[in-house]
Order: sequence, then C-alpha cells, then structure tokens
Amino acid sequence: MSFGPGRLAILSGPSGVGKDTVLEQWQKVNTQIVRVVAATTRLPREGEVDGVDYHFLTEPAFRVMAEEGGFLEHKQYGSSWYGTPLDQVEDLTKQGKVALLKIEVQGAAEVRALIPEVLSIFLLPPSFEELERRIRDRGTESEDQIQKRLSRAKEELAEADTYAYRVVNDDLMRCVEELERILNG
Ligand code: ADP
Ligand code: 5GP
Repeated sequence: MSFGPGRLAILSGPSGVGKDTVLEQWQKVNTQIVRVVAATTRLPREGEVDGVDYHFLTEPAFRVMAEEGGFLEHKQYGSSWYGTPLDQVEDLTKQGKVALLKIEVQGAAEVRALIPEVLSIFLLPPSFEELERRIRDRGTESEDQIQKRLSRAKEELAEADTYAYRVVNDDLMRCVEELERILNG
C-alpha cells in the first residue's frame, strides 16, 4: 500500500443521516474531494448508476476481488457485501486528491487500524426521530429494511465516539462548512 501526497478521509453515519447529500454539497465547495466508488453486492436503488454510485457486483465476482486482495477493507452490512477498492484509493492519493470513503463503522475501524493518519468523521442526525423521518421520506426501502436499518443505526450511533470528529447534519450548508474547517485543520 502506498498513499500520498493526497489524503484519505472516512465519512460514516447511519443510513439516512444524509451522507450522500452532504458529500455532494461538500464536493461542490471543495473539488479536491473525490468519493471512492465502493463495490457492493446489493441491488441498485432506483436512479443509482453502476460505476457512479457503486460498482454493483455479483457475490461470486465480489468474492474473487476480495480473494485477489483488491479491497482495502470489505464488510457485510445487512445481507449484502461492501468493499473499498484499493486501486482507487492509491490512484487518488497519488494524484493529491482527498480520497473519501463513505463506509460503515466496522470498515472504518479496520481502515483506522491499517492507516492511523486517516481523517475519520462521523455524521450525526439532529435526533433519532429526524433520522427515522429522513429514511422514510427517502422512500427507497421496505418497512422490513427500514426497521433493520433503524436498529443498526442505534448500534452505529454508539460507535460515534471512536471517530476523531463528530458533525451534526442539521443544516446542510452549516454542516459542510464544519467539514471544510475540519479538513483544513
Ligand atoms: P445517506 O447517504 O446517509 O443514507 P441521504 O443523503 O440519502 O442519506 O439522505 C437521506 C434523506 O435525508 C434524503 O431524503 C435527503 O434529502 C435528506 N437530508 C439529507 N441531509 C439533510 C438535511 N441537512 N436536512 C434535511 N434533510 C436532509
Ligand atoms: P447503502 O446500502 O445504504 O448504500 O450502504 C449501507 C452501508 O454500507 C452504509 O453505511 C455505507 O456507508 C456502507 N458502505 C458503503 N460502501 C462501503 C464499503 O466499501 N465498505 C464498508 N465497510 N462499508 C460501506
């Protein structure tokens, strides 16, 4: 593994807290930030594009990539697999970019152990009620999936303290300004 002169950052937070929304806005403000396109075995949601939102892989294809050492980390979340492609992280940091990983807490812990200098940020909802409202309003999951994600969210929120920074996604622009301040030290 070789990184630099760029930087590696992690943005975690429960499903529905607004990671995609915040990231999209942050990238408008800071063009150096490039999201690493993760691989997953889950099916695309409506509007999601292969190679843009995720690399959507079959389970066998995912397994082969994992066995060949193609992931910096990979984890199961719900019934699907997710992994960070190592080549993208290396390419982006070589180009001097901020390679941003939008990953869950277990994957984040693994990356922190491998690369202590990683900038780790946990995005918090203003309240649990607001988190539930955002997940429901997005309207992309079944009731069963919503319940699973909410119970997982409780577990994940308990891990927020293991991150270097915690940022509340209350007002979008305020949140992005705080992220920029953190990134710029
Ligand atoms: P995640 O990527 O964390 O799963 P999304 O970015 O898909 O979350 O956001 C979930 C829902 O919450 C979306 O409907 C989005 O429009 C809404 N949302 C995101 N950020 C905010 C915010 N700051 N205020 C109000 N709603 C928000
Ligand atoms: P979603 O299905 O909502 O897109 O993602 C589910 C969870 O998997 C989110 O918490 C997301 O951040 C996480 N995730 C996405 N890609 C990766 C990855 O490459 N590795 C890990 N560990 N988690 C990921």
